[in-house]
Amino acid sequence: MKNLKNMRLGIISALQEEQQGLVEAMQGPSTLIHGMRDYALGHIAGIDAVCVLSRIGKVAAATTATMLVEKFGVTHIVFTGVAGAGDVGVKVGDIVVGESLVQYDMDARPLFPRFEIPLTGLSHFPSDLHLSERLANAAELFLDQDFNTAIDAGERMAFRLQQPRMHRGLIASGDQFIGSREHLGQLNAALPGLLAVEMEGAAVAQVCFELGVPFAVIRSISDNANENAATDFMRFVKSVAARYAFHIIRRFCAELRSEF
Ligand code: SAH
Repeated sequence: MKNLKNMRLGIISALQEEQQGLVEAMQGPSTLIHGMRDYALGHIAGIDAVCVLSRIGKVAAATTATMLVEKFGVTHIVFTGVAGAGDVGVKVGDIVVGESLVQYDMDARPLFPRFEIPLTGLSHFPSDLHLSERLANAAELFLDQDFNTAIDAGERMAFRLQQPRMHRGLIASGDQFIGSREHLGQLNAALPGLLAVEMEGAAVAQVCFELGVPFAVIRSISDNANENAATDFMRFVKSVAARYAFHIIRRFCAELRSEF
């Protein structure tokens, strides 16, 4: 990848609990507050990084991504967070790395095809291959090598996390928490290959596409996007997803650093 030496990585999460450990582990962090958000500037495993919480939803995420690029000069963006499973083969505790991202609630028919973002000609925004490969690699290594020690045995039992797997494919975002089998079924019918549903990734994807900034999205699966989705959601975020993000992003940064 070009310009890795001058890279400044923006790391976005929606919820505080998803990112707390990472920010605490940053080297030499300083905080800048802008537009109701705290931007933590420092280094992670030798990579110049800016961590920020977008808060929930597409507008919040798009604003945050824009600020990261325009005000904080980031050259690459990674979104790390949780998502609902979008396919029966994807289980709670699994990891999904987005190959492409779609805004499932965009519908400007009859002027444009369903899901197409007007005047971009795209409905599915591809993530950066190199960043995604590195993230997927870090996620695999985490699951193979760190998972059993990183996640408390009681929590592994409670969430029935046996052998979590890493998947790569389509992630759909929209301004709704999906908590019904029926709604998920409709999305599955309209979006073949769907692996995960969440509320920010595709908004970041659109901003990065428009600004020419490479990006990637990694999500740990917190729920099945069905009627039970809200149960234990926060417990999963704190005791499982936060650990995933901490270990995977550190591995990812160390790997990128070794490419300099
Ligand atoms: N009940 C939560 C609400 C969080 S909203 C609370 O009390 O705070 C859900 C967040 O997690 C969003 O940032 C979204 O990206 C992700 N997410 C996880 N599961 C989801 C689902 N089933 N549908 C939509 N977003 C989901």
